[in-house]
Amino acid sequence: MNPLDIIFPKKCALCMETLSGDNNFLCEKCEKDLPVMKHICAIENLPVYNDKTLSVYCALRYTGTVKKGIVSMKYGERPQVAEFLGYMTYEVLSQSDIFDYEFSDFDYVVPVPATKEKIKMRGYNQAKLIADSFGEMAGIEVLDNVIIKNSNVESQSLLDLAARQKSVAGIYEPGDVEKIKGKNLILADDILTTGATVIECAKILYKAGAGLVVAVTASTGKKDI
Ligand SMILES: [Zn+2]
Repeated sequence: MNPLDIIFPKKCALCMETLSGDNNFLCEKCEKDLPVMKHICAIENLPVYNDKTLSVYCALRYTGTVKKGIVSMKYGERPQVAEFLGYMTYEVLSQSDIFDYEFSDFDYVVPVPATKEKIKMRGYNQAKLIADSFGEMAGIEVLDNVIIKNSNVESQSLLDLAARQKSVAGIYEPGDVEKIKGKNLILADDILTTGATVIECAKILYKAGAGLVVAVTASTGKKDI
């Protein structure tokens, strides 16, 4: 046993139980109950800009300990949840034959941005941490600040897709887009709800000249089949 494990015992990324044995991320219970999506493609070839389309792939269902982990990550308490989610998203996508791309097809991972205020409050943008861990596993460079999220936006969680699409227009705008012209991008986020956020961000990336945009999210509240 590594002596550091006694001083800083490793904890389950989702339920915080102290880990035993060789488990690196999850306790036995969380690993057994992990709600991996069967049909990981939640949105398929949705037209978003001119002839460009967007597909969205989700690794886990937003339920149980995944939901608890994401909530604590959102309140700035547990950045290590994001590291686990990025790793898991890579694992699920690479093992699924529904994800029909090679990771080497992509030039950059682009995280969905957070406002400056949120980053200051949490200490991090959880989508960036997920992108970092996912990108490291997939061997794809992460490019931050490609999209900017403006401040003073009211919470959207209670709105339906049409209302959310209206409410996200103008919230996101292009940032440092010079490098993405003609490039293939993976847009990364923590959770897919209606899809309004990833659709708006994909639109911005395509308008800025991206070749292909595919979105991946660590979790979704949408039903699995
Ligand atoms: Zn656990």
